[in-house]
Amino acid sequence: MWNFISDNERWVIGISRSIDFWNDNWLGPKPIRDLSDLVEDVLSSLSHPVADFIDNGKWDGLRCPNLAVSWAALVWHKHLPPRLSLLGWRWLHRKLPTDDLIQVKGIQFPSKCDLCDLSTETFSHLFLDCQLSSALWSKTTELFNEVWIWKAIVVEIAGFWSNKGKGWCLKETWLAGLFSTLAAIWHERNQRHFEGKKRSPSVIFNGIKGKIVFLCSRLKFSPKSVADLILCSRLHLENSSQPMLRILEVHWCKPMRSWVKLNSDGCSLGNPGRAGGGGILGDHDGRMLIRLIPWFLLQEWNHLFSYLINSIEWKISHYYREANPIADFLAKDAAKSGTSSDDVSLP
Ligand SMILES: [Zn+2]
Repeated sequence: MWNFISDNERWVIGISRSIDFWNDNWLGPKPIRDLSDLVEDVLSSLSHPVADFIDNGKWDGLRCPNLAVSWAALVWHKHLPPRLSLLGWRWLHRKLPTDDLIQVKGIQFPSKCDLCDLSTETFSHLFLDCQLSSALWSKTTELFNEVWIWKAIVVEIAGFWSNKGKGWCLKETWLAGLFSTLAAIWHERNQRHFEGKKRSPSVIFNGIKGKIVFLCSRLKFSPKSVADLILCSRLHLENSSQPMLRILEVHWCKPMRSWVKLNSDGCSLGNPGRAGGGGILGDHDGRMLIRLIPWFLLQEWNHLFSYLINSIEWKISHYYREANPIADFLAKDAAKSGTSSDDVSLP
């Protein structure tokens, strides 16, 4: 009976001063000490009432409302592939297996930096001090018109990237620059270390630029400064911003003295549909309106053509619709009425 009850019992957390967070079976089916990976020495020293983890009825003692590290937003950025985020997370936690960190675990072996052959390989040397790594950090920041200054620890690099990134319109490219450079250093080290393959600094840097472009190729950029435009050009990124609309002043001009100007337009009420043409003839201070349907227009044109060719000086130019409303009205009027006239009144 007792086993049946204990198997089905449920603890309700109240004031919870008398419930031990680590050792009591309040969470079910086992105490937290049995579910955790903590060693016995640590567990035996732990004794806290559940109430210590409850604040105003909420589990705020267990939550971490703010980011625990300043670089978390940088590493877990939505535009970064998980593989690079994970590499960055391991890097900032010094969890990449460089020679010195392996030796700390008691495995002894000779060490040499594969990037420069001038030093033993330590985590700090590989990512901060090595002349090849320094050159790559410098060239990447130079790409963004920033000056690379030596950093003592890798977290400082993350801080530098976070601070400088605030000023960039194209933040994603700057972010991609950090992780592309980091990945290139680590990849080159592993290629030399395990495969015996070696690339020149210029080839490695071209790979970094290619990686930045690849990471940003699906993003749309709207440059807002000359620096943004230069960066887009350097990385051959597509500028998706719309060209600014240009306002063009349009107005009708009187013809020169002794000249006559004909503004004309055509119209069709559907296709096929009844069509019409219209025009207004004006000298430098007068006007004459005409409204024509197409067959009359063709007749008039044939009649005038030899006169235009042989007798007077003439020229044809394009006119914007905004400066041609009367001819437009006359063309529509001719199409609707089906009549031709040289005596038309305007509305
Ligand atoms: Zn080195």
